[in-house]
Amino acid sequence: MHQLKQYSVAETLEKDLGDPLDPNNIMSFKQVVDIDETEEFPHSQIEWLYNWKLQHYYVPAECGGEFTSFEEFVAFVRVLSRRDQTIGIAFTTLFWSFITWMSGSDEQKQKLANYIKNEQGTMCLGYSEREHGSDLVGGDLTAKKVSGGYILNGEKWPINRATISGISYILAKTAPEGGAKCLTLFMVNKRELDPEKYYNLPKILTHGIRASDMSGIGFKDCFVPDSMRLKNEGDGLEIALKGFQITRTLCAAFSLGAADTALRTTLNFASKRIVYGKTVFDLPQPRQTLVDAFLDLLICDCETIGSARGFHVVPEQFSVWASVVKYFVTTQLETMINNVYVVLGSRFYMREEHDWGIFQKVLRDNSIISMFDGSTVVNLHALILQLRPLTKYRSRRKSNTMAEIQGRLETIFSLEKPLPTFTPTELELFGRGIDDPLQGLEIALQQLEDLKQTSDLDEQVLENLLQLGNLVLEELDNHDQLIANSKFEYGHDQSPELFEIAKKYCNLHAAAACLHMWLYNRTILGDFFAKGEWLVLSLHRLLRTIRHLPYCLSEIYVENTAQELLKLYKEDKLFSIVPFQLAQSQSPEDKPYATSGLQLKA
Ligand SMILES: Cc1cc2nc3c(=O)[nH]c(=O)nc-3n(C[C@H](O)[C@H](O)[C@H](O)COP(=O)(O)OP(=O)(O)OC[C@H]3O[C@@H](n4cnc5c(N)ncnc54)[C@H](O)[C@@H]3O)c2cc1C
Repeated sequence: MHQLKQYSVAETLEKDLGDPLDPNNIMSFKQVVDIDETEEFPHSQIEWLYNWKLQHYYVPAECGGEFTSFEEFVAFVRVLSRRDQTIGIAFTTLFWSFITWMSGSDEQKQKLANYIKNEQGTMCLGYSEREHGSDLVGGDLTAKKVSGGYILNGEKWPINRATISGISYILAKTAPEGGAKCLTLFMVNKRELDPEKYYNLPKILTHGIRASDMSGIGFKDCFVPDSMRLKNEGDGLEIALKGFQITRTLCAAFSLGAADTALRTTLNFASKRIVYGKTVFDLPQPRQTLVDAFLDLLICDCETIGSARGFHVVPEQFSVWASVVKYFVTTQLETMINNVYVVLGSRFYMREEHDWGIFQKVLRDNSIISMFDGSTVVNLHALILQLRPLTKYRSRRKSNTMAEIQGRLETIFSLEKPLPTFTPTELELFGRGIDDPLQGLEIALQQLEDLKQTSDLDEQVLENLLQLGNLVLEELDNHDQLIANSKFEYGHDQSPELFEIAKKYCNLHAAAACLHMWLYNRTILGDFFAKGEWLVLSLHRLLRTIRHLPYCLSEIYVENTAQELLKLYKEDKLFSIVPFQLAQSQSPEDKPYATSGLQLKA
């Protein structure tokens, strides 16, 4: 496979963290499960990451750091999360710094960069309140203007790293009468506050990510200087919503890491456990479940990596794209983890026994990803509000629009192409109906047609792809028709049906992302990727949730995909369209999961 340099940070981090199956390693499954049992914050692991200087990759190059692309970022957050989402999430609250990179003054940026790089500084996001979760405008924490600053009063809860962090991004009400301009965002530096005027709330006991600093923060007549305000009074909601466009997309990396471990640890079992004289992996139904899980990862990869690159090319489209990724990837992989636990059998529920009980921890930890940073319904709702403009824009595309979309799609999806620097100032609250991946679907179909002239592709694969691709187009046309004829309202009282329609839009979006990813990278991501059988199976998998299709398109494609999955597993490579090298396992003596005696009793 061609070496893509944007994956080298992740590969090096992987190597240095070592095999997670070796209990002596800093973030081994044994260590992270032990930490989870104590529920104590993982200080040593976080310090290890700071000493490795990973924090530099959270600071953009123009602010003196090493961050250059979201694609690179997603890859190394995935590496952290495949070992432990608790640590991955705890360290990655650093990413809230993007609020400052996006909206801070030069002085604020400089101060923050220094704090992160040289003082092991970190931050938390204080948006939610006990009485007002998703309803940011309904918040009660107030900031009253006084000479030289503001007086804060109120509490934020539940907040990850509220206690163990130096900076809190606090969304406060500056206009009691409400409205879109009633909020102001502060980058509150605790070290510069009167310690008598703020307090931390007790640790919250959670179902998963138990070792997190899950707490809250409160202010009582607390003075914060004007220098801690981001942009202008009243700009808080706009900054918050634009910041979410960045972080919601990146949440996908947490899910991808967890899903890799869920699948890998299940394979570890299924390839060794003997039932009825053969391995679990050799039974048709579990084999299909594991192949489907692998396909889910590949599909989510196309959507996530596409969006991570898309940020650099079309930031103005992310009011749509971020909602699609946050909804689709996190829920698809949550379901995938639930599907594979059936194959792992009873061990999925045990807090020891198989790979130190990492699966049950993954299951618990991962279930928060689709909830925080805007829950599933909040993201679908945000998408619903844009469905009509999306449909209108699509119906008005002209040939020059298509040519522009094609140019952008190529930069977004060609992994070898350099990306422009991310410009957060170009994020928009509403994307004016533009959504390149789906609006460029006809371009992909034409590219498939053109491939008929080349000889390197299996004719049947191409035929399948054309058929399935045209079904995606048919479904998209139906969708547009439905939206055009529907009663559409702004606000929160959206019909349950519209939520289902929005889900379907996300599904079609993922199908388009898979097509583009394959078309632009056919020759650089290895033979398995190039052959396209996985793409046939993936499109079929996505379409099957929308319309009636035969259960199986090709047993040969399934078998070849199963073989690829086993190969990646044996070679310790990431389950991904970019299967980079993971830390090599020392291949401990393969432990059988049953003796024949036990089998007879079962
Ligand atoms: C472990 C954990 C970590 C967290 N970390 C942070 C953090 O660091 N910073 C932070 O600010 N917050 C954080 N949160 C808070 C989290 O973002 C909120 O819990 C989330 O926004 C949902 O809020 P809520 O549960 O209060 O639900 P509510 O807003 O009270 O909503 C209740 C229910 O109403 C329905 N609903 C809400 N909106 C809509 C809609 N538009 N359309 C249809 N139905 C809707 C849904 O069913 C929803 O579950 C964290 C939460 C947890 C559990």
